Amino acid sequence: MTIKNLIENVTIIDGLGNEPFKGNVLIENNLISKIYKSSSNQTLHEEVKLINGKNKYLLPGLIDGHCHSSFDEVSSNDELFYHRNRPGLAAIIASTNLNKILRSGVTSICDPDSIHELGYDLKDAVESNVIPGPRISTGGYALLTSVGGTAGRLIPDKGVIGYGKVVSGPDEIISEVRRQIKMGADWIKVHVSGLIPSHKKRGELSVWSRDELELVCKVAHDLGTPVMGHCRGAISVRDAALSGFDMILHGTLMDEEALDAVITKNVALVPTFTFQANLIDHGNSIGASEFIKDLFRREIEDSCQMLRKAYENGVKILCGSESGFSVTPYGHWHYREMEVLIKELGFTELEAIKSATSDNAFTIQLEGKLGRVEEGCIADLILINKNPVKDISVLGNLKNIELVMKDGIIQKFYDQPERKPISGWRVTNLGEILTQNVANNK
Ligand SMILES: [Zn+2]
Repeated sequence: MTIKNLIENVTIIDGLGNEPFKGNVLIENNLISKIYKSSSNQTLHEEVKLINGKNKYLLPGLIDGHCHSSFDEVSSNDELFYHRNRPGLAAIIASTNLNKILRSGVTSICDPDSIHELGYDLKDAVESNVIPGPRISTGGYALLTSVGGTAGRLIPDKGVIGYGKVVSGPDEIISEVRRQIKMGADWIKVHVSGLIPSHKKRGELSVWSRDELELVCKVAHDLGTPVMGHCRGAISVRDAALSGFDMILHGTLMDEEALDAVITKNVALVPTFTFQANLIDHGNSIGASEFIKDLFRREIEDSCQMLRKAYENGVKILCGSESGFSVTPYGHWHYREMEVLIKELGFTELEAIKSATSDNAFTIQLEGKLGRVEEGCIADLILINKNPVKDISVLGNLKNIELVMKDGIIQKFYDQPERKPISGWRVTNLGEILTQNVANNK
């Protein structure tokens, strides 16, 4: 039986950057079947559920291109590596977080890596309607050398830790990439740059050789799977681009050579400034140090010009929130990258929405089919009661999201009671260091 929904008299923001227009949108089963470009009444013979869109805005469901659904709002690597050691519980909690993500209007996420490789299971559970959640494009464990990411000496010399797996030498690289793809990885993720604690001032260094990066791409691409890299710093961006990476997370601090490589190879960039922007703007209320705020402020300032140049040369700049950390809790900040792109990279609101919808469909590997209000596309849609083209931040307020439709189905949400603490799940924190000055309020 065909299920039909008609959203009437609504302002359509198509996700392709076109000017908003009024119309009616017919959805049949999971597809947008017809768009009537005026709000005049259509004569419909069959049974159709009517949804009143008057004074409302219809957008494609948002896509978050960088979201860690299994991290459960961790505040540190220690917490992520040593306090999330119960895979069953981690999966159950992640399923409730997926509900929060969907409720906030995000109908798809790209989850680059997960603890206990939960991504495969979460994806299957959502796809089979076992749990509600956004559609998921997932990685397995991030591939690390023993110097990877931002975890410094916490990374072991071999084996699995948290979201990552240390691989050394071609044999391990080949077998791990193949294993992940067999398990269900949609993406292979590599931590191309890493932070060596004693070299902190220099930022992250590229910690893979070109041969190794090319090998990852060769094995993954032969099995039809794209590769993404965590890259901070010019050399890691350049090497990843030249080695055949399909997408670069962060992509910050590029020099001319790195920019050139990204443009020539046309590699999508996901700057993911939301994490930094949140700490800069709201760090004081959560006790962040001036050092870390400063570091992040500089990362944004020093990167924007090159990212803008990349964009002007046709490189896709995609939206990712890095939700899953204590500064980026689920369901709160997925819209924020659009705000940062508008403020820091000079995007228009319509360009920012395009980035978070039709362009971001690339991260889900559904380009051209998802993230658009267009006939024949997948009916992932949100109905908003305020105009996001006037003020993008309206997308950050749950009260403004009237309806979330995923795969043609109007989502119903359950109210989650406030969560109580689970013993051993969070790192206990005694608070600030109690110097005499703090004690005496100086
Ligand atoms: Zn991340």
